Amino acid sequence: MFSKKLKVWMKGKIIDFEEAKVSVLCHALHYGTSFFEGIRAYKTKKGTAIFRLKEHVDRLYNSAKIYRTEIPFTRDELIDAIVNLIKINNLEACYIRPLVYRGLGALGVNPFNSPVEVMIAVWEWGAYLGEDAITKGVDVKVSTWTKIAPNTLPAMAKAGANYMNSQLAKMEAIVDGYEEGILLNAQGFVAEGSGENLFLIKDGKIYTTPYSSSILPGITRDSAIKIAKDFGYKVIETSIPREWLYIADELFFTGTAAEVTPIKSVDRIPVGEGSRGPITEKIQSELFSILRGEKEDRYNWLSYI
Ligand code: PMP
Repeated sequence: MFSKKLKVWMKGKIIDFEEAKVSVLCHALHYGTSFFEGIRAYKTKKGTAIFRLKEHVDRLYNSAKIYRTEIPFTRDELIDAIVNLIKINNLEACYIRPLVYRGLGALGVNPFNSPVEVMIAVWEWGAYLGEDAITKGVDVKVSTWTKIAPNTLPAMAKAGANYMNSQLAKMEAIVDGYEEGILLNAQGFVAEGSGENLFLIKDGKIYTTPYSSSILPGITRDSAIKIAKDFGYKVIETSIPREWLYIADELFFTGTAAEVTPIKSVDRIPVGEGSRGPITEKIQSELFSILRGEKEDRYNWLSYI
């Protein structure tokens, strides 16, 4: 996890962790005014490589744009900052967290009078849902909380405030003895996990929820779709009813933190055989081989630092 010895990039400068501070009256702290990314860098035979860096930075700009927020740095400046920060911290593999937030200005709901600031932190982070999760899978529950509805908070923006909704589902899952929660959307169809997109396999076809189901457009989701299609599978983006989760042959989560994590049960009903399924394993192993540099980077997903 995070170590106080690590350097942080803040407002254009690389500084010590202890110096990277915000005010208690910072707008983001009071009103949730922040946008962020989660990116991973992997150790490969050719050195450290960042996975789909450009796509992550683009999504950060999109999240900010949805909220009429201008980021006071160019995309290239942030990309350079990320690369330099990993080098300065001497990390071979890490998680990268750029955060855009409204700092100290004027309190009140109106965000326009508070400055837009940016910070980037990096740290070593293992398997998000536990080491066993990647091979054995996780137990999940369908949350009693509904995913943020269209016209309330935009699900396509990776905004800090959205994660209050995710946290309700996550806390409920943990307290009830599950590793993760799946949120249904306002129409009652499956949306996604608290921090992951969801894939379902039934009769050899692969399904995933569409943007219209109130999901974050996941970059790992996009990667899994491309890999699956290249293997010759049909990938169908469609509304998934809750009960499909119970009769699916395989289910898995995708996400930068969760990578590809199989789901072994939903509401204590086993998924298929109750263990990682063969198609999940095939997609998982192909993605891992690409991002660890063991297989050719045929999609140009890796940026070596
Ligand atoms: N949905 C939510 C709510 C998330 O927080 C994440 C993690 N960023 C994802 C999906 C997966 O997105 P990605 O693959 O880009 O990490």
